[in-house]
Amino acid sequence: MKLKKVICSFLGSCLIAGVLQAQVTIIKAGHLFDAATGKMLSQQLIAVRDGKIQQIGADIPYSPTDSIIDLSDAWVLPGLMDCHVHLTVAFPYRKVAIEHMYMTESTALRALRGAHNAQVLLMNGFTTIKEIGNDANYASADVIRAIKKGWIQGPTIIYAGKIISPYGGQTAASPEHEHVWDMEYLDANGADEIRKAVRKNIYYGANVIKVVTDSYAYHYSLEEMTAAVTEARQAGLKVTAHVMGGEAARNVINSGAAAIEHGVDLDDELLQLMKTKGTFLVGTDLAVSNNLAYSADSATARNYYRIDIDRLKRAYRIGTKMAFGSDIIIDIPGKNRAQTILEILQSWKDAGIPNAYVLQCMTRYAAELLGVEKERGLIAPALAADIIAVKTDPLKDINAIKAVSFVMKDGKIIRKD
Ligand SMILES: [Zn+2]
Repeated sequence: MKLKKVICSFLGSCLIAGVLQAQVTIIKAGHLFDAATGKMLSQQLIAVRDGKIQQIGADIPYSPTDSIIDLSDAWVLPGLMDCHVHLTVAFPYRKVAIEHMYMTESTALRALRGAHNAQVLLMNGFTTIKEIGNDANYASADVIRAIKKGWIQGPTIIYAGKIISPYGGQTAASPEHEHVWDMEYLDANGADEIRKAVRKNIYYGANVIKVVTDSYAYHYSLEEMTAAVTEARQAGLKVTAHVMGGEAARNVINSGAAAIEHGVDLDDELLQLMKTKGTFLVGTDLAVSNNLAYSADSATARNYYRIDIDRLKRAYRIGTKMAFGSDIIIDIPGKNRAQTILEILQSWKDAGIPNAYVLQCMTRYAAELLGVEKERGLIAPALAADIIAVKTDPLKDINAIKAVSFVMKDGKIIRKD
């Protein structure tokens, strides 16, 4: 805020009128990605005030006293979004052991890792994420609190709390260690237990509900999924489901859940059903380099990749709604969490998905899935000023977004190289 209104008298003396006005920032964008249309515009001005975009255009008025950010040699985009993030998880490279993590890492350590990764993601252009669970005893709820208090910088986080699942979570435990998974999952079997689990997550800060429906021979019925969706909806929340395909996926789609996570085994008929129902696919289609991090041998890593790319291609061809999600739980040596996430761009490239559509899946479509489309996802008047810039054209080479040179979050400059 600053004093701005100045009244000059005929004697030439100036009086400050005492009207407080918020500082206006003008971003000069050489190129501006319009996520609504998928087109790149030239020579645009963006006026930002009070953390929000006020006006955009090639010729909008501004005052010499406004703060100017010159990005006339850059490509400016809405902040990126990742709809499948595990902020607090980092297995050792090529040594996946989820149960070992439960036994050896405290919730405090997990929260500190989550805080670190949240900052890394924001610095690299991710201004909104969906934190999808596996965060010990609600560690990410405290990461969100720390961001809101201003202790650390981080993206807007849509938060799932503990993952709700049929008996056993996604864990391999002996009977002597029954409920070791309670650290990460809420066992919920039958509609009543599911409703209780949804309420528990909301109580501890969740604003989206994540269910794992099919990790074992038993999976959630349509009645159980409908209970989850109905209970969440009453609190204004969406449900998203880890499911691979088959009958379990059909139950998820028919329940009215917002999205399927992974969906590796979805056939064309189910992808078509998703299109009809408006169910999003968050494909989490890892690159070969990501698959190798899981201790997979080269042939296995390539085989997983081939299956993912095939489903990604079919979903695009059929027109199933998609939003970008990464599901990174192991970093590649020498790369930070954001860099490991962006390895996945290779999968979208190899599936032949147009770069403009990839960017839309990382912005406007992700915002729609996350329920923040009235606040974020586009560079448009009245939306939050979540704005990034890169030095080369991402429509020519999507890898351009691996080198973010400018980040603005809610109108505040986080990075300017
Ligand atoms: Zn995941």
